[in-house]
This record gives sequence, C-alpha cells and structure tokens, in this order.
Amino acid sequence: MTGIIVKVFGRFYTVLFDGAEVNSVLRGKMKTGQSNYSNPAAVGDIVNFSINKEGLGIIESVLERKNTFTRKDGVRSREDIIACNLDQVIAVQAFTNPRLNLRFVDRIIIRSKRGNIPVLLCVNKSDLMEKGESAFVRSYYKGADINIKFVSALTGKGMSEFKKEVSGKRSLLIGYSGVGKSSLFNRIYPGVDLKTNEVSESSGKGKHTTTNVKMIRADDGTELIDTPGVREFGLVDIEPDDLGNYFDDFREAALNCRFRPCTHDHEPGCEVKRLVEDGVIHEERYISYLNILYSIQENLKNQY
Ligand code: GDP
Ligand code: ZN
Repeated sequence: MTGIIVKVFGRFYTVLFDGAEVNSVLRGKMKTGQSNYSNPAAVGDIVNFSINKEGLGIIESVLERKNTFTRKDGVRSREDIIACNLDQVIAVQAFTNPRLNLRFVDRIIIRSKRGNIPVLLCVNKSDLMEKGESAFVRSYYKGADINIKFVSALTGKGMSEFKKEVSGKRSLLIGYSGVGKSSLFNRIYPGVDLKTNEVSESSGKGKHTTTNVKMIRADDGTELIDTPGVREFGLVDIEPDDLGNYFDDFREAALNCRFRPCTHDHEPGCEVKRLVEDGVIHEERYISYLNILYSIQENLKNQY
C-alpha cells in the first residue's frame, strides 16, 4: 500500500491512506541505511507500508522525493529533513509584534533554494505597518526571486490574494509564534486550527525539533505543514564561496567581480560591493549576507 506521512512525533509516523490515518513505525532495516539524512522519513514522504496483526502500520520504504527542506546544525551531524515533496515554503512575518526579521527570512530562503523550493514571504499585521515599511521589504528583496504578500488577518486586507497563493498547494509554514499564523489560516480556512499543535510544542522540546511536524489539510485539499518549535536553521552545509549563489540579487553582479570565486567581503574589485554602494543592492540585505557568511566561516574554523 502507498500512503503519505502527515505527522511525525518521535519515532511514530502517521500515514494517510484512503482517507484514514494509520499509526505507523519504520521497518527496522529502514532506520540504519547509509543516508545523508539523520531521519529516514519525514512529513510529505510517500511511503510503501503494510499493516501488521495489531493494526500498526509498518513503513517499508520511501519513494523518490521531489524536493526536501532540510537544516544542518552541526558540522558532524547529518542533515535533518523537516518536510519534503513541497510546492512552496511560506515564511510568515509580522510588520511588528514580533518585529520584522528579514535576516531570519534570508536563512529560510537559503534553505529553500538549497532544496529547490519556491518561497512565499507573507508579512502580516499590515494594519500596524508604518509608512514606508512595505517599500522597504520590496527594495530589500529587489532582484531576489521570491513572492511577497502583505496581509492583515485582522482587517482581511490582501487575504484573498494570499489564499490564491496557498490554495491547492502543499506549503511548509515557518514563522515565530505571535506573527499570526493561526489567525491567517483560520481566516482563509475556517476549521483549520494550527493551535492544536501547541501542546506538543512545549512537550516536544529538545534537540530533535524535526520530530514534531504535522500536515493539516483543508477541505479543498490545500495542505499546510506546521513546524512548531523549529526556530533555527543551521547553514553549516553551505560553503562560504557558494553563499552568494543563494542570493539571486547578487548572482549576476558576481560574474563581474575581479576574483572568482568572490565572497563579496574584503576582495578588491567586488561588483556586489559596488552595487551596494550605488544603492542597487539594499545595504541591509548585504549586511545580512555578511552576517551569514561570518557565521559559516566561524563554523568552519571550529571544525578544526
Ligand atoms: P501565531 O502564534 O503565529 O499562530 O499567531 P496568532 O494567530 O495566535 O496571533 C498572535 C496575535 O497577533 C494575536 O493576538 C492575534 O489577534 C494578533 N494578530 C494576528 N493577525 C493580526 C493582524 O493582522 N493585525 C493585528 N493587529 N493583530 C493580529
Ligand atoms: Zn564580489
């Protein structure tokens, strides 16, 4: 039988098959294989499984994945798959309370690009937005290949357009608590309740935050994957020389840097730096880049 994993909790997996949820575990041989990943299966995986005498699902194998959204925290640890077979990643932010954090979004974009997954940035609480703030976000991402929507779950502004971007797709949601994820999805899909995850958020603390991910399905087939407790995205698998390639808005300029590869940091004749000085690339975006570059370089140093 073939089903899809809709929930992972510790070593238990919920497999959706023919409209029914089957509580499942992995077949022993699946746990060991030589894989690049720390977890053999994740939410979004299409799996072959059987059901034993006790009615427990036994996951036998995972079908080939379209894409994976992963993180890598430790130099020695393997990549964790948070979810896979996605149509998009939705980074949810608020204009305020909690304060807009585009550096966090930049990290999400890198992880998504690494997995070949499109990104939708949804900035909520536009009713509280100060003058010029949406223009700031647009100019920050000018030249970057991401879709941006400004919405207010409170007033409903921008919500029908946002719904069009979500409807019928399988999306991975990432955003700190308080940005309004529950309010947003409640508004476009009454009956969808992201808050049901919260109990497990507190009990699911610990090292393996990937062990608590859940897919919620709306009546029209729209699928939302919530990641309570996933707050950081390690980037230790990104090479310093390669980081600029994850910034679409830098990539073309990088062809004209005097040195190649160029980390766009201290190198003379760097075209990216020139474009920052000319105001073509937003300075804040460049600072965010350097911030990530230094953290990656720091990680590499600590490796030895
Ligand atoms: P979550 O933790 O991301 O699921 O966020 P919630 O949906 O629980 O919302 C957090 C708080 O922000 C609640 O007090 C909401 O009423 C409020 N909130 C959500 N959306 C908006 C909005 O568009 N505008 C304003 N002003 N407040 C909002
Ligand atoms: Zn450069």
